[in-house]
Amino acid sequence: MQAITLLGSTGSIGVSTLNVLAQHPEKYRVYALTAHRSVDTLFEQCQQFKPEIAVMLDESSAEDLARRLKSTDIDTQVLSGEQALIHVSESDNTDYVVAAIVGAAGLLPTLAAARAGKHILLANKEALVMSGGLFMHEVEANGATLLPVDSEHNAIWQCLPVGNQQQYHFEGKGVRRIILTASGGPFRDYDAADLEHVTPEQAVAHPNWSMGQKISVDSATMMNKGLEVIEAHWLFGLPTEKIEVVLHRQSIIHSMVDYDDGSVLAQMGNPDMRTPIANALAWPDRIDSGVAPLDLVKVGRLDFAAADHQHFPCLALAYQALEAGGTSTAILNAANEVAVEAFLHKQIKFTQIAQIIDQVLSEMPASNGDTLEQVLADDQQARQIAKDLIK
Ligand code: NAD
Ligand code: MG
Repeated sequence: MQAITLLGSTGSIGVSTLNVLAQHPEKYRVYALTAHRSVDTLFEQCQQFKPEIAVMLDESSAEDLARRLKSTDIDTQVLSGEQALIHVSESDNTDYVVAAIVGAAGLLPTLAAARAGKHILLANKEALVMSGGLFMHEVEANGATLLPVDSEHNAIWQCLPVGNQQQYHFEGKGVRRIILTASGGPFRDYDAADLEHVTPEQAVAHPNWSMGQKISVDSATMMNKGLEVIEAHWLFGLPTEKIEVVLHRQSIIHSMVDYDDGSVLAQMGNPDMRTPIANALAWPDRIDSGVAPLDLVKVGRLDFAAADHQHFPCLALAYQALEAGGTSTAILNAANEVAVEAFLHKQIKFTQIAQIIDQVLSEMPASNGDTLEQVLADDQQARQIAKDLIK
């Protein structure tokens, strides 16, 4: 029996993970569930999975949850605050930590899991984007295992030589390049003039995937793919020029590895996050995920096209930040989080997301990012500059 801490259990990835876990009660038990402030959902999840600990970041939500649990026969302990998230991530009572908090808020608990040498199922790509060098150092120094849940990175993981994935460095090992596929999001067929007027409701309506709001907007700007290029750089130890993006509107091929001998290995499947989640949970074994078998005849065709950096300026900004190095990618991420939030609240236009990130990156000098303090300080400063620009 593996014990699981699920960070961000009430979100899109969290709910999909619980769906897979519920199919295998003999293999996994839930040690801890955590959420920001969705009391209703966390209460229901506690009733079904009976974790030892439930954490709500928000204190009054935690009090509310504890009150409700008192009237049941469930003896889940309720904690609150950031320190509690760290506690359930590094606890000796858990083996696997599923990192499914959205954004920079996921960094410290996920880092704590790395330091404690856990099996980390990583959905929270922002943690690697902010501090990939520091993060990978902690993973390797403490014997943690970092299993990618992001569908593209999980696909690449599956296409890399079996048993060697945990090397995390594939430069000079027969890999010519990796090819990340991108659906192009809801606005892939829009022209520049149309993009000026798109709404948050349109942006979060992804054609192929059902996801949380922030990553849905990131998919529409293609910043999501940019963050994934950075994530791939750290997970697979490859330089920027060996990480390519290709548009593939059907989201059936989830990514590919191109080897020196000309072989290109692809992982395919229906677009359903339960596949990469089940793969990461069971690795190196396989378990049922509940995902329907792929019907290739019904899919009919697979299309590919170049990803146009002019149409998707956020993708270009992410490549630039990765090339610039240091805390540039943390600054990119912070500015993006603030800009996406402002767009969701209708304070800025869709096209201003890229403009704000660009301006923050050019106004603010990056530091080398050798310490966590530096990363967090630059994250805060970038947020402030972005907020001032929005005002
Ligand atoms: P979501 O918004 O649906 O869920 C976020 C979860 O994090 C919720 O449980 C929420 O309560 C919790 N949370 C939010 N803010 C928090 C904070 N400040 N402190 C503590 N907890 C907080 O997001 P999601 O779509 O499930 O995405 C989660 C992560 O997984 C993101 O990093 C995203 O990029 C990545 N990811 C998601 C998908 C997907 O299909 N949804 C695919 C690949 C990667
Ligand atoms: Mg992805």
